[in-house]
Amino acid sequence: MTTSTPRSPEAAPLLELRDVEAGYGPFRALFGVSLSIPPGHVVALLGSNGAGKTTVARVCSGLVAPTAGKLLFEGNDVTGVRAYRIARLGVAHAPEGRSVFASLTVEENLLLAFRVDLGRKLAPEAVARAYELFPRLGERRKQHAGTLSGGEQRMLALARVLVNPPRLLIADELSLGLAPIVVEEVYRTLGKVRDEGAALLLIEQHVKHALALADDVAVLNHGQVNYYGPASELGDLSERLLPAASNGSHA
Ligand code: ATP
Repeated sequence: MTTSTPRSPEAAPLLELRDVEAGYGPFRALFGVSLSIPPGHVVALLGSNGAGKTTVARVCSGLVAPTAGKLLFEGNDVTGVRAYRIARLGVAHAPEGRSVFASLTVEENLLLAFRVDLGRKLAPEAVARAYELFPRLGERRKQHAGTLSGGEQRMLALARVLVNPPRLLIADELSLGLAPIVVEEVYRTLGKVRDEGAALLLIEQHVKHALALADDVAVLNHGQVNYYGPASELGDLSERLLPAASNGSHA
């Protein structure tokens, strides 16, 4: 097992998993997972299919309760706290819990979402910002969301989170199935969200994209963390841990 201390250990973690075990019924997916996400940091969570990445994300957002260990938010124990209450602390999990209304237009979807999040007065400004982030949504503003392509629907769901960034955005394979040009757009936007001070937990098949943005990297293997440290120190370990990272394809 290879570990090292992530950057800025002096910063109190925004979210921390301590020796977390979790699973589904009798099936255990995570074995003693410890992970801390400092405020404003980007942590990339990598690993092969079935390694437990989505389960970690679900524990972080309260969708799966640990059977052992602790979940801490700014040092407070939130183990077993329901997902909607963790969301209120400023943790957003995308794409889970973010859907669009098929029978409303793009603009109606955005206006509705921002009225809920920000109030009637600020909503139009937020819609304009969504179109700046995703010009394609602006071009399709009058189109019913149900008739958008899969990638465009993902952008619409994402716009809500990205325009009004949470304190921690858990981004679980946001780019899955998106065209490369859209992936670039999503990553540019994630960079802006990070620049505005949000922390990110990135689960991503496009390893190169994730590593380009990440401060720290955690590599999961069979439900256990077998590397956690600064992305810059991954070095030649990346070839052993992530053979696909070096050729630009999927992990
Ligand atoms: P992938 O990259 O393929 O999405 P992952 O690393 O995100 O995989 P998880 O989805 O966390 O992995 O799954 C970890 C393990 O838990 C897998 O063995 C999976 O089959 C199992 N699992 C995931 N969700 C459930 C569920 N709802 N019920 C039962 N088992 C599940």
